[in-house]
Amino acid sequence: TGKRAFIAGVADDNGYGWAIAKSLAAAGAEILVGTWVPALNIFESSLRRGKFDESRVLPDGSLMEIAKVYPLDAVFDNPEDVPDDVKTNKRYAGSSKWTVQEVAESVKEDFGSIDILVHSLANGPEVSKPLLETSRKGYLAAISASSYSYVSLLKHFIPIMNPGGSSISLTYIASERIIPGYGGGMSSAKAALESDTRVLAFEAGRKYKIRVNTISAGPLRSRAAKAIGFIDMMIDYSLQNAPLQKELSSDEVGNTAAFLSSPLASAITGAVIYVDNGLNAMGVGV
Ligand code: NAD
Repeated sequence: TGKRAFIAGVADDNGYGWAIAKSLAAAGAEILVGTWVPALNIFESSLRRGKFDESRVLPDGSLMEIAKVYPLDAVFDNPEDVPDDVKTNKRYAGSSKWTVQEVAESVKEDFGSIDILVHSLANGPEVSKPLLETSRKGYLAAISASSYSYVSLLKHFIPIMNPGGSSISLTYIASERIIPGYGGGMSSAKAALESDTRVLAFEAGRKYKIRVNTISAGPLRSRAAKAIGFIDMMIDYSLQNAPLQKELSSDEVGNTAAFLSSPLASAITGAVIYVDNGLNAMGVGV
């Protein structure tokens, strides 16, 4: 309660970012979100037109309020990074100040500080290609959008994070076990994200008293996951093989994020927390 959260990677009401926003709002936090520039217009107009009202309902019956929506493209750190074709692109030209550094500056100007930073975004243009068929460009794009984007977000937001604050990202078990179909360097990107979680926990803990954790989430039928193409199979596999044979709800990930962001988790940092009905613990499927 009384805390402020910035959640990067919310563009509809189906993904983990939305569920995390709701759990944090239910716990009393003020919610700011960062929305990918090309998805901004449709997200904001859907919000305004009440398209998300049903999924905005919190446990106490009130509706989640989003204090402000910021346009964000987390593959660019500052305006000098932005190539001309993106600058002049119709979908980008209508918005401004959407590089990571500029968004952090705007949040500072508007609100002063935050307590909770959430990274709930990923992108791998060649995700449907096996690693052996992935181009250098596709691999580096996956790492840029899905791993470095987190380093950059934390780097730019940490100066405005209050001591005792918490930072969370979302990862997937393909970082450590073979998950055929999660290609294009996305498995590599998640491995980097998990390793960075440990190093960043050390650096952010020592210098800023900020905790850094990542949630290894089970399969959810989000927009991003549907684009990969194997999500129904993964959900089915988990239902068949996990210790808990139920479909994973995004709220279960949201509630874990709220716990990790609360004083209840004040000694947890540098951790990969599994929220996957226990599937990670299985050696073979039965
Ligand atoms: P989602 O589509 O709700 O979220 C991904 C978001 O990333 C989208 O809103 C998209 O607009 C945004 N995005 C993409 N590129 C961006 C950029 N350059 N700058 C800013 N935003 C950008 O899907 P999701 O599945 O909820 O994904 C959230 C996180 O959860 C991701 O890190 C994903 O890898 C992770 N995750 C998902 C699953 C799953 O099964 N859905 C499982 C484990 C982990």
